[in-house]
Amino acid sequence: MFVDSHAHIDGPEFDNDRELVIQRARDAGVDAILNIGTGDPHSGALERAVELAESYPAVFAALGTHPHDARLFDQKAESRLTELVKKSRRVIAWGEIGLDFHYDHSPREDQRNAFRRQLQLARAAGLPVIIHTREAEDETIEILRTEWADASLPGVMHCFSGSARLAQQALDLGFSISFSGIVTFKKAEELRGIACEIPVDRLLIETDCPYLAPVPHRGKRNEPAFVVEVARCISEVRGLAIEDIAEVTTANFSRVFGANLDATGSSRETSR
Ligand SMILES: [Zn+2]
Ligand SMILES: [Zn+2]
Repeated sequence: MFVDSHAHIDGPEFDNDRELVIQRARDAGVDAILNIGTGDPHSGALERAVELAESYPAVFAALGTHPHDARLFDQKAESRLTELVKKSRRVIAWGEIGLDFHYDHSPREDQRNAFRRQLQLARAAGLPVIIHTREAEDETIEILRTEWADASLPGVMHCFSGSARLAQQALDLGFSISFSGIVTFKKAEELRGIACEIPVDRLLIETDCPYLAPVPHRGKRNEPAFVVEVARCISEVRGLAIEDIAEVTTANFSRVFGANLDATGSSRETSR
C-alpha cells in the first residue's frame, strides 16, 4: 500500500478523467492521496479541494496559500482558510506554504508575511504544515525556527530537491522529508544520495502531479499512480524491497497527518 502525500488532482488537468485517475491509483496500490488545494484563495479553489476530499474516501485535503499566490493572501483569505479547515475533517494539513525565490511570482515581502502568518494559523488550528521552498533555504529555516520550532506539531518539506544541509536542518526541526519524481531523474545523483541518508521514519513519497512525472513517465502528465516509481527508485538506492518503502512511508504519513489508514486498503476518515 502506497500513499501519495502531495498531489494536485483538483485542477483542470484532470477535469476529463479525474475518476479514472483515482481508480488507476487504487489499482496501482495507492490507497491514499493528499490533494493540496492551492491557487487564488478568493477563487473557489480551496472549496474545490475540500469537495474532492469529501467525495472520495481515498482523497484527503491540505489547504493553504502557496508562495506563488502570497500577494493574494489577505484578511479575507485568512478567514476563509480558517473556516474551511475547521469545517471539514477531511482537511488534515495546512499547506503548501513557504518561500519560492526561484519564480518570485509574488513579492518576497508578501511571501514572508503569508508564510509567517500561516504558520501561526496552522499552530492555532493544530494542523501539521507542508512546506514548499525553492532557492530560499536559509530564510525558510530561519522562519521555521522562530514560528514553528516549539509548536510540537509535525511538518513536511515537500518535493525535496534542496541541499544535504537543508535536509539536516529540517530533520533537526522534526520535519519529515518528501521525495517526488525528481529523485528518479538521471542527473539527480546528489538527491538520491540524500534520499539514502534520511532516517527511514522521516521518509515520505509524493508525485506533486500533474508536474514532475517520474522516469519512465517523464514528460507526460503526472498522476498519483506513478508514486510507485518514486518508491521503486528509493527502494533501489537504499537496498530495500519496494514493499518496505511502501510500508514505512505509509506508516509515516499516518503518523504525521494523523490519518487513519487501515491495512485492508480503504482509507477512513481522519480522527483529528
Ligand atoms: Zn510545491
Ligand atoms: Zn504542490
